[in-house]
Amino acid sequence: MLVEEIVEFKREVSCFAVPKYGILSITSDNTLGGVEFDFFSIWQQLKEIGLENIPYVYMIHSHPPGCPKMSSIDFNMVHGWCQGLAIPICFIIVHETGHTFYLCQKNGKKSDRDIITVDLDDGLKQIMQATYYLSMLDGLNVDVLDDLALDLSEHIDIGYTNILELTKNIF
Ligand SMILES: [Zn+2]
Repeated sequence: MLVEEIVEFKREVSCFAVPKYGILSITSDNTLGGVEFDFFSIWQQLKEIGLENIPYVYMIHSHPPGCPKMSSIDFNMVHGWCQGLAIPICFIIVHETGHTFYLCQKNGKKSDRDIITVDLDDGLKQIMQATYYLSMLDGLNVDVLDDLALDLSEHIDIGYTNILELTKNIF
């Protein structure tokens, strides 16, 4: 008899990445509903790279089944990042049936968000898969996520997606 494996979503995982530079941070508060990016660590690294060298960033995070869209908490958070960074943010939600790709950017004191369809860079795809995988993993020790981010960064090259076409008129 075939035993059906029941794979459960265990936690939201957040991953911040910069094309050509790699993964700056992976975090999780180990709960089903907690989007959590490590602002201080990420901001420090972005300053070292230099925002002028970064055309846009990726904020990837996983959602439980049935939640393919941004929550209001997500949007409030990404709005803060848009205003602070003033560069486009590809906010990507990975979920059980695929992903939802938002392009978010500062528009004066407001922030725009548009769901777009792009050809995903292979490295980006791998990071999206890793983010979802970590969300399903039994007994994940969230304290090792920073080391994992470094390790993944060394093995995965994140290039630019064709999002560059959409954003280059800004620069
Ligand atoms: Zn969310």
